[in-house]
Amino acid sequence: MVCMHKVGLFWFHSDLRIADHPALVQAASQVDRLLCIYCLPNSTSDHKTPSGLSPARLQFLQETLTDLDASLQDRNQGLEVYYEPPLETIAQLITQYNISHIFASVSPDYYFNRQWSILKQRYAMIDFKQTESGFLLDANQLPFERQELPDSFSKFRRRAEPIAVQQPLEAPSSLPPRPAATSKRSWQKQFPDCALQYKPLFHGGEQQGQQHMHSYFSRGLASSYKQTRNGLDGMDYSTKFSPWLAAGSLSPRTIMQALKQYEMDVEKNDSTYWIYFELLWREYFQRYAQKYGPQLFTFGGIKGRKPSTSFYPERYQKWCQGNTPYPIVNACMKQLNSIGYMSNRGRQLVASCFVHELNLDWRYGAAYMEQQLIDYDVASNWGNWQYLAGVGADPRGHRRFDLRKQTEIYDPDNHFIDHWDGGNCSMVLDSVDAADWPITDSSGH
Ligand SMILES: Cc1cc2nc3c(=O)[nH]c(=O)nc-3n(C[C@H](O)[C@H](O)[C@H](O)COP(=O)(O)OP(=O)(O)OC[C@H]3O[C@@H](n4cnc5c(N)ncnc54)[C@H](O)[C@@H]3O)c2cc1C
Repeated sequence: MVCMHKVGLFWFHSDLRIADHPALVQAASQVDRLLCIYCLPNSTSDHKTPSGLSPARLQFLQETLTDLDASLQDRNQGLEVYYEPPLETIAQLITQYNISHIFASVSPDYYFNRQWSILKQRYAMIDFKQTESGFLLDANQLPFERQELPDSFSKFRRRAEPIAVQQPLEAPSSLPPRPAATSKRSWQKQFPDCALQYKPLFHGGEQQGQQHMHSYFSRGLASSYKQTRNGLDGMDYSTKFSPWLAAGSLSPRTIMQALKQYEMDVEKNDSTYWIYFELLWREYFQRYAQKYGPQLFTFGGIKGRKPSTSFYPERYQKWCQGNTPYPIVNACMKQLNSIGYMSNRGRQLVASCFVHELNLDWRYGAAYMEQQLIDYDVASNWGNWQYLAGVGADPRGHRRFDLRKQTEIYDPDNHFIDHWDGGNCSMVLDSVDAADWPITDSSGH
């Protein structure tokens, strides 16, 4: 008698860890053999990023994948990284390994979900399973259906706060073996070159994320988070959990557990509450992206109200390079271009400048950040941009920051601007006027 193995495929995407991973645990319990794969984002055929990922993003991703691969190898498994589009890759693997089950985490990413649906339609004989792994609260804990998500964060928070966050799961001690006759491919050599010009602030991977989280709490920084969180430069003014959260190397439930522990062992105050409050913002945008799907990327946003902005290539270039007439914005953009990270305050200022001072179509700003941010997260990035562009979840519908006042408050001595050379800029925004006539300065040049 022939013994038929159940062969599963686990499709990792933004859940690059093994601890607190309900989807991986489920896969491990349901199949005899398991193939773990990851497809590089810019290999998706309909990805929006114009020219791929920045070196900082690539470097962080490479480290994250290397760490995950090592954790899987410790469990007699391994990660296969593919550079071709997922639909083609998975189609080939289904035939090659006679795959009977495909598993993944539930994703807020419309493009991921579209590919998942296409696969489901094409392979009706395969058992497809998605499990929530990246949320703070389970969908079945929420007191409303996906499409009934409240239309503002405040309303969401009032209903989410009474819900107890569940304990994170342990990492599985073992996993089903790889399909018979698979030899591990070496994926590192093909990985795009991401030679960095500077020493990175963050290193990717679950272990690094855990270390960073423990170090943050052990240094007592959580006790003053609310007072420091609007800082612009440095490692300590905010948690810096976002790069690992976005890659899925740290789960929000793991962070909540550490936060609760801190509140029991050290101190519970406004600041510790505020970290939870910000994690709820993240949660809101994850659910928001799930609810609105492709509307997350449309010009009129969820309101369907198109802003009166347009696209001016020269202004866009200047904003990207940090060469606008606004030194604080320039410093933030140069910081982003150098290290792949920018503070929350900085992101608000550069987005407000983009929309309100430069009159640019917000989607180009969001797409640029998608390329550059090592903590790029589809829901938080596009959701926040919509919010600031007045086409999202902001009940006020319009947020324009006074850049001069903001500079006085957050960089009164110009330390940040000087550090990132934000003052070295052109004070002229456009080199031609509305009729394309070159604009000369007052000296006639
Ligand atoms: C225009 C714009 C684009 C953004 N793009 C992203 C993005 O691509 N990825 C991303 O993770 N965050 C994004 N944010 C949200 C926020 O700026 C970052 O989460 C935060 O700066 C990350 O640093 P931190 O981990 O030290 O945050 P902390 O201040 O320490 O906050 C703790 C955690 O709470 C969550 N959080 C905090 N603020 C927000 C917020 N406004 N929205 C959603 N979650 C929040 C994050 O997961 C963060 O790690 C964006 C904000 C703006 C205004």
